[in-house]
Amino acid sequence: MSAATPAVDTGTIRIIGAEEQHVAHNYHPLPVVIASGEGVWVTDVEGKRYLDLLSAYSALNFGHGHPAILAVAREQLDRLTLTSRAYHNDQLGPFAAALAELCGKDLVLPMNTGAEAVETGIKVARAWGYRVKGIPADAATVVVAQGNFHGRTTTIVGFSDDPQARDDFGPYAPGFTQVPFGDAEAIEAAITPHTAAVLIEPIQGEAGVIMPPDGYLRAVREICTRNNVLFIADEIQSGLGRVGETFACDREGVVPDVYLLGKALGGGILPLSAVVADAEILGVIRPGEHGSTFGGNPLAAAVGLRVVELLATGDFQKRARTLGAHLETKLTELVGHGVTGIRVAGLWAGVDIDPSVGTGRQVAERLLGRGVLVKDTHGQTIRIAPPLVVRATELDWAVEQLRVVLAG
Ligand SMILES: *Cc1c(COP(=O)(O)O)cnc(C)c1O
Repeated sequence: MSAATPAVDTGTIRIIGAEEQHVAHNYHPLPVVIASGEGVWVTDVEGKRYLDLLSAYSALNFGHGHPAILAVAREQLDRLTLTSRAYHNDQLGPFAAALAELCGKDLVLPMNTGAEAVETGIKVARAWGYRVKGIPADAATVVVAQGNFHGRTTTIVGFSDDPQARDDFGPYAPGFTQVPFGDAEAIEAAITPHTAAVLIEPIQGEAGVIMPPDGYLRAVREICTRNNVLFIADEIQSGLGRVGETFACDREGVVPDVYLLGKALGGGILPLSAVVADAEILGVIRPGEHGSTFGGNPLAAAVGLRVVELLATGDFQKRARTLGAHLETKLTELVGHGVTGIRVAGLWAGVDIDPSVGTGRQVAERLLGRGVLVKDTHGQTIRIAPPLVVRATELDWAVEQLRVVLAG
């Protein structure tokens, strides 16, 4: 596990230059060009190895190239990849049945990206609001939380409060009410007879792994039930093993009305998202009212089924729980030594960097030089989310690199 040197060679500079010339600048990537990956490790074009502590924002929960997922993808690639939903395919049904069972729900609506799952969830909630709850036409509202991240579509950025995500992309879609995250009473106060749903992340990932106070999710569940409002949990980043349970809602024993899933559902191979709910909710959508050309394609469904099978054993959740506790112990030792605070849920950590050490971005750049990949968020925070196949010794090594970087 030798640390990489910080120098960027000319080949790398050339590749990055070409990308910057022809790819829109909607990201600010770290200066590393990755060429291959296996498990928790990636290798750049110069042959340097890095421990991946981001996992593509938790889309790689099973690591790079998990053999069981790759095998099913390769097999399905040779057989059938796309039919559109104009026809049935032989993979979608088994995938949906397995995912519904994992979630304890009746129905699955397959989409591709996370943002599409969120958009779909909003459409389902509105249709349910009008057709089941009896909200007057076009009056339905959805309560959301401050600091949310639900994706990048025009509707979704309209109910974000992050200026970078939102500014200059208006006009914004009406029908959303924002309340502070972690404050159940504020949700109750925001609910009106026109409220169709409460949409929250059980743990806010992009905001910096922000955890609500204990009992919040249970209170939200109770408030939604009492007011006949749907509880939609965006588990796109927090779900599917990351926090040491299948879903972050499981940490409080809470079952939302609607799960929004994505990221890891595609096994790190392709985009696959889903809305999962009972028939009395998801059943409101009728043929022709919603769809996606690639949604429910047989390649994605085959991969998704294998992902659900991997999760059904509970092994990954257990790993995340055990190793997460280990990671928390290690990170706690850094508090007061360049770290001002940590938040850990399973193998998911937000680490607040002392400004005297530098910004989150600067720490990420220094870690890159030592062979560790992390991503900063919101200035002073770095997020740690290794693939769940990571070993304790690898975590120890990574935290040691962080300790060295923080010590300057
Ligand atoms: C990443 C993310 C999304 C959006 O997913 P995309 O696949 O990037 O569209 C939505 N919600 C949460 C909580 C996310 O972390």
